[in-house]
Parts: sequence; structure tokens; C-alpha cells
Amino acid sequence: MTRTIDLEYGKSMKRKLNIRTAMEEASRCLLCHDAPCSRDCPAGTDPGSFIRSIRFRNIKGATETIRKNNILGGCCSLICPREKLCEEACSRTGIDKPIRIGELQEFAIEQEKIFGMEVLKAPKDKKKGKIACVGAGPASLACAAKLSLEGYDVTIFEAEEKPGGVLTYGINPSRLPQGVVEHDIKKIKDLGVKFVMNKRIDGKKDIKKLKDDFDAIHIGVGLGKSKEIENKYINKNIDGVINALDFLKTARENNGKIDIGEDVIVVGGGDVAMDCAMTAKQIGTNISIVYRRTIEEAPASYEELEIVQKMGIPIITNFAPEKTIEENGRLAGVSFRSRDGHSTMNFKVDKLILAIGQEASLGYRDLKLSDGIFASGDLINGGETVVQAVADGKKAALDIIDYLNKKEAK
Ligand SMILES: Cc1cc2nc3c(=O)[nH]c(=O)nc-3n(C[C@H](O)[C@H](O)[C@H](O)COP(=O)(O)OP(=O)(O)OC[C@H]3O[C@@H](n4cnc5c(N)ncnc54)[C@H](O)[C@@H]3O)c2cc1C
Ligand code: SF4
Repeated sequence: MTRTIDLEYGKSMKRKLNIRTAMEEASRCLLCHDAPCSRDCPAGTDPGSFIRSIRFRNIKGATETIRKNNILGGCCSLICPREKLCEEACSRTGIDKPIRIGELQEFAIEQEKIFGMEVLKAPKDKKKGKIACVGAGPASLACAAKLSLEGYDVTIFEAEEKPGGVLTYGINPSRLPQGVVEHDIKKIKDLGVKFVMNKRIDGKKDIKKLKDDFDAIHIGVGLGKSKEIENKYINKNIDGVINALDFLKTARENNGKIDIGEDVIVVGGGDVAMDCAMTAKQIGTNISIVYRRTIEEAPASYEELEIVQKMGIPIITNFAPEKTIEENGRLAGVSFRSRDGHSTMNFKVDKLILAIGQEASLGYRDLKLSDGIFASGDLINGGETVVQAVADGKKAALDIIDYLNKKEAK
């Protein structure tokens, strides 16, 4: 059962599992000895184990497995590209259809919230070593949680007002409600991780200053800057042209209540482009996506493409923007050219949203990791998924512990 998106911003109409349907679904599991689903979850959330727990009505046990391995288990249950990960690997796929792993994970986390389960505890006795995490996105959150569970003192410094990174400021809330993000983050706060908000750590100089107060630093600042289109005939500075990250952030901050005109075009074929299109549709515009390659080449996940299709959003493929058309200093239209160069299309456009990729912000380009400085997540892997950032953040935490142990032994 895939998620159906309501046309109201922030509302999803998905039917959820209950205890009976969850146990029924879990009992479809073949209990494979080698659990390929667990092998193919980047963060090691171990669906093989939590499905078994749900099958035997041990919901607390299931929640414990999820949280212990993946502190962002609630968010991941909703937005992981499961069809390419755990569910693709599920042995049941070869018989009929995969176990609905994401939905079982979502069910367990919801029960945790409803019954106020406390499944994780940080040790009371703290280990020697203070760690600073820069950025409060999935990578730093996973790193901080792991370090805290191991008994270290961790402080997160975040430039924005709220933690979560793309979870809070990017992804459309109909796919990922803010309540789910906040519940996951509460679990991290409960472990004793400290959060300093509205605090930007700008590159080398600021990091050097942090080094005076902390024994190790983790950088998880992601790819916060939208890439600029390399076409001098597209005027990025006129009213009406906006980049994807700024558009999504403004929409979230205003709960979808923004005026973007009647005719909107999103340029791009990835998850970010699909999120922009969904958002624009929910705001109530006449929206189309234009992508320069074929639909098969589009990097967006299957689920995102399906949602966009269900919402009736047209995707025009094999066309790229050629030039913007201006009237009285603001955007009036856009001209597109076909991939083979033979045809052009002109559209009346009030808003052009450019979703053509992200890159690191200036202070973090060509970052050199040296003594006591670690990094993970999108900044290092070039832009992947939340579950991959969780995996990378956990690995960075282990590297930090190894570094602190070696330092202590000297
Ligand atoms: C619109 C959109 C939709 C996506 N959809 C999906 C999806 O459906 N499924 C999926 O798995 N992945 C999706 N992704 C990818 C996923 O969100 C990222 O891979 C993941 O968030 C990376 O985590 P991160 O911690 O590395 O970076 P981020 O999430 O970018 O977090 C970085 C944090 O660092 C902060 N920061 C930046 N600079 C500074 C500074 N100088 N000082 C202090 N703090 C700073 C930022 O404010 C932010 O909070 C999507 C991404 C986008 C943009
Ligand atoms: S975290 Fe994502 S990939 Fe891992 S088991 Fe859960 S849904 Fe699957």
C-alpha cells in the first residue's frame, strides 16, 4: 500500500497498520536464516529482528531493536526508498510481494509514542571526552545519539532555529509529518544530547575555536546550497525564479500558505524536484515538471514518481530551459529546448523553481579532515538518503570513540 497524498499541505491519507494487521503482515515473514532485508538496510536497523518481535506481539522489543540501531527509525520508516533497499532484498518478493517493512517499522514507532515507551538509556557515568557536532541533520543526530549512548558528552550546534536539517526544512510534510521528526529528535534529547540552536559554525576559523573546548568535532552540515544553472540566458536574479531549497523552506515555515502565482514549472528529475512539485500542487497552482532526460533516467524514487503521477502533475521529459522571458522586471515565461535540439516550447510562467542539485556551502568545500575532526552525511557522500546519513553518522561516532581511546592511551 503506497502513501496517498492529500491536496492539503501537510496531510497524508494513508491507512495505517493496527496490532492485528501488523501481526498478520509480520507472520508473512519467512524468517530467513540470513535475513537479506537486514543485510540491505544501510543503517543496520535489523528488520529481520523487529519483524520477528512484532509477529510474537513483542512491540517493545521491536521498538528497542529499531531505536538501538537507528535513532531516526520513525523518519526512515516513512521516507526510505525501501523498494531499492530492505524490501527489494526481502525473500518474499520472489513468491508474491515483499513484507511491508517500512509500515511495520512505522507501526512500532507509533506504539512507542502512544504508550510512552522508554527503550534507550544513556549511561549515568560519563566517559572522558566532549564532542561537538556541527549541524542538526540526520548525520549529526545519528552520530550524537551513538556517542551519547556510549557515555560521551555531546553538544550539537545548528544554524537554524529547529533541528532536523532536510527532515524539518526540506521534505514535504505530507510525506514526513513534523510530529514524526520531533518524536525522533525528542529521543535524542532524552539521551542528554545538548542542542545550541541559531548557531552557525562557519568553516575553518570557527571550527578551530570549537577545538579549544571540545576533544573531537563532527561536521554534518549537508549540502545546503542549491546548484546554480549554467546558462547565462536564465536570469536567476529576477522576481519569479527561485531555487528548490529556498522554496521548500519558505513553504514549510509558512505552513504552505504562500503566494507563488498561477503557473509554476519545476526543473529537475530528482526527489527534490518531486517534493517541490507536490508542494506547489498542494499550494494550489497549475504545476508541471520539466526534466532534461527520460523518465527512466530520472533519479527520483519510485514512490515519489508514483505520488506525483497520482496527483496528476505532468512531467515533460527531454527538454531543458533555454531562456527566461521577462516583463516589467519579473518572470513572464520560459522557453525550453528539446534534448535533440530540434524543437522549442514556450510557457507562460509565474514561478520557475530550479531543482537541479545541491552542493556544499562555501566554508565547507574542499574540507580537510585533520586531527580530531570528523565528518559524515551528504557533505561527504555527495548527497544520498537519510538512512545512509544515519549509517555514516554512526560510523563517524565509532571513529571518534577510537580516536578518543587512542588519545587517552597516549
Ligand atoms: C527536498 C529533499 C527531499 C529528500 N527526500 C528524501 C527522501 O524521500 N528519502 C531520503 O532518504 N532522503 C531524501 N533526501 C535526502 C536526505 O534528506 C539527505 O540525504 C539527508 O538529510 C542528509 O543528512 P545530513 O545530516 O548530511 O544533512 P542535512 O539534512 O542537510 O543537515 C545539515 C544540517 O546542518 C545545518 N548547517 C549547515 N551549515 C551549518 C553551519 N555552518 N553551522 C551550523 N549548522 C549548519 C543545516 O541547517 C542542517 O540542519 C531529500 C533531500 C531533499 C533536499
Ligand atoms: S531504516 Fe529504511 S532501509 Fe532500513 S529497514 Fe527501515 S525502512 Fe528499510
